[in-house]
Amino acid sequence: MGSLDDHISAGAIARSDDDFELQTDALEEVLSGQLPCWVCGYELSGLSVTGVCPECGTPVRTTLLAVVDPSAASYAPLRMPRIASAGLVLWTGAALLAILTIWLCRLTDALQVWFAVPSKLGFLGALVPVFAALSGLGGLVLIHPQKGDSLKQTLGPILASALYVPLVWMLWYTHAKIDLTAGIPYFTNALREADRVELRCAIGIVSMLIALLVRPSVRAFAKRSVLMRTGQLTRQTLLAVVAALAIALAGDMIHVATIRVEPLQHVVTSTISLLLVAAGSALVTVGFAGMFWDAIRLYPIIRNGPRSLGDVVQLDEPDA
Ligand SMILES: [Zn+2]
Repeated sequence: MGSLDDHISAGAIARSDDDFELQTDALEEVLSGQLPCWVCGYELSGLSVTGVCPECGTPVRTTLLAVVDPSAASYAPLRMPRIASAGLVLWTGAALLAILTIWLCRLTDALQVWFAVPSKLGFLGALVPVFAALSGLGGLVLIHPQKGDSLKQTLGPILASALYVPLVWMLWYTHAKIDLTAGIPYFTNALREADRVELRCAIGIVSMLIALLVRPSVRAFAKRSVLMRTGQLTRQTLLAVVAALAIALAGDMIHVATIRVEPLQHVVTSTISLLLVAAGSALVTVGFAGMFWDAIRLYPIIRNGPRSLGDVVQLDEPDA
């Protein structure tokens, strides 16, 4: 089987189209089993494969192409499908919550500095490491989820899980300890700005390592969805997250340089640094939102296994 990248071309979709034709031509096809319309959710069971959705007019075939996996039978069964499906949602969802919490912290900072709105949400920063730890817990399902995993798919997530320990500690130190004791970052000159920005660099690097280490295992999960295999559902989300982290990291490293080398301290360098951090963080947020959304869509496929054509189509028995 080719890699996910190979399938992302439009040609790959056409190929799976052909596979589908081969499988359905032999049948006088009527939908059995539950099959909600891919576009509007209308229950299509009992309709002919050649028909259209009575609600929205989408061809039934479109829904079948989206839902039915021609290679459903070719995947090694997951060892713990229920835990794996929930773990993926926890892994991505808790990480997204951690990031959104950091944004909320900065928002309350801005309100406090610019509009003198007293912040009653000082405790928020302490939630960041909690969410990150929950994400790490969910990420454990990426370790050896199926028989026949490659070494890369097994060792990577083990190392990544170990990296969550320093990551959670650094997030606690940055968002709970420093931010609560040293004052507001970015908007005012925090006393321990140097400590904070160096920690941010380390957090960025560790996060990038985690993303790269879990990538083979995540792709193995994603390949279980015909939509992801054919590039209809997901992009190279983890690589996009790594690139976004790198942008923010570049901003932080410029910041470190300006703290260490006094002649570099200038409104231009500080503006570039802040812009890179803001843009990188925004892209990281988008990336994690995409991963969370993918995990939600993968949930039924991982939990129940991919659906083969036989699961949704039956031979039309002529009426007696
Ligand atoms: Zn419909």
